[in-house]
Amino acid sequence: MGSFKSLALSETMISSLARQGYLSPSPVQERVIPKALKGQSLVCQSETGSGKTHSFLIPIIDSIDFSKNNSLQAIIIAPSRELARQIYTFASAFIADFPSLKVRLFSSEMEKEQNEEGLSKAPHIVIGTPGRLGEVLDRDYSLDLHEVRTLVLDEADMLMEFGYFDEIDSLFDKLPERKQTMVFSATLNEGLTSKLSRYISSSFLYEGKDNKTATRVRHHLVDVKHAPIEDALIRFLKSRPIYLGLIFASKKEGANAAYAALKKAKLNAVLFTGDLEDRERKKTIKSIKENRYQYIVCSDLLARGIDIEDVSDVISLDLPSDSAYYYHRAGRTGRFDKEGDSWVFYNRDSLRRPKELLEAGVPFDYYELRGETLVPDELGLIEKKKFTIKKNWESEEQLKDIKIAKAKSRSKKVKPGYKKKTKEAIERVKGKYRRKAIKEAVKKNKEEGYRKQAARKAETQANKKNKRR
Ligand code: AMP
Repeated sequence: MGSFKSLALSETMISSLARQGYLSPSPVQERVIPKALKGQSLVCQSETGSGKTHSFLIPIIDSIDFSKNNSLQAIIIAPSRELARQIYTFASAFIADFPSLKVRLFSSEMEKEQNEEGLSKAPHIVIGTPGRLGEVLDRDYSLDLHEVRTLVLDEADMLMEFGYFDEIDSLFDKLPERKQTMVFSATLNEGLTSKLSRYISSSFLYEGKDNKTATRVRHHLVDVKHAPIEDALIRFLKSRPIYLGLIFASKKEGANAAYAALKKAKLNAVLFTGDLEDRERKKTIKSIKENRYQYIVCSDLLARGIDIEDVSDVISLDLPSDSAYYYHRAGRTGRFDKEGDSWVFYNRDSLRRPKELLEAGVPFDYYELRGETLVPDELGLIEKKKFTIKKNWESEEQLKDIKIAKAKSRSKKVKPGYKKKTKEAIERVKGKYRRKAIKEAVKKNKEEGYRKQAARKAETQANKKNKRR
């Protein structure tokens, strides 16, 4: 990792970052900040928890022209009020070192009057959700848009998913033509890229691969057999020490049931779903950030963007139908330079989605939940299933051996225990074949793992080489 000093930032910015505990830039910051300081437009596909918020805040704040008072210079749009508030909190932390800096938050969590208060003096940066921001800017509350140099769209995939691009389009048209547009998105698909071509014609920057999560996350599949999921969850929580656990269910009924089970087991848990009233939602986020709970049961609403520190474990009771959400879930842990574990519950009847993720390259290992103990399972259910299928076409050789074993155990006279002995001989042959097949599958699994590991290593080296150039 380099140093912030090599990024052409002001002394004030460097000391502000040091005071906030940011000593060296993250990879995404290293790549985005120099381009952003030059005023270039860019699209950045960044890992969740990679430090992307600061990759746009640092250059924006360091480029503010403080000689121009009362001039709005940057607009940052985020898809949810929680995210907008988080960006606002990060931006406000710079005010101690940039005392003239004025930042305003416009979001639907605040009363209209509050949003419009004190707008006679324009802030340098406004941050908000598209709806409320559009409303405020529409009414022309003496907010002059002529000096706006930078527009940021954060979590653009979510902005699109929520259908916010109409509001963004109309805001975009009101801004000066020569402006810098920076777009950040965890995922980039064709629909989004074509939408973005209206905003940015060149300077595309891709950071990272599709759907990546922080690399410090270990991924595990846990075979919970056919036990009721809430029962498996309570046993799982007893099986390992968890500092702060996020428990995801893709349907709110699932989240409600899991929360009820945790409460019944007298565990310190909170529920966060789309059902919460506005006020309740804000209060819950605040108490979560104050570290008041050990377990947070949530729907995928919380999987996007929100920065909760020190999440040690993410537990998925099931997998979302859109596999992109798995990456958002897992990305809640292993943030920045920390490590974390993402656990996915599955059983023989729910192999399709884990298999898709495995094929997409998520390096899962396998566990089995036996009672209240988590036992490593070398093979995993998906490989075992392949083995079950394979058994049928291997059976010819096996049948021959069984015939021989039967013949050997038979004697001329029918002796007591003859049936039992034959059965045992057959079982021995079957056992031999089962062990052989498992050994082969383990070997194949390991080889596959080594192959993936080597490919990852080669890719990291290639990236490093490209960076050096
Ligand atoms: P983000 O990817 O923007 O959600 O950021 C994830 C977390 O990384 C936040 O808690 C930031 O405070 C933290 N962070 C951002 N930049 C740095 C840095 N250069 N050094 C250490 N932590 C950072």
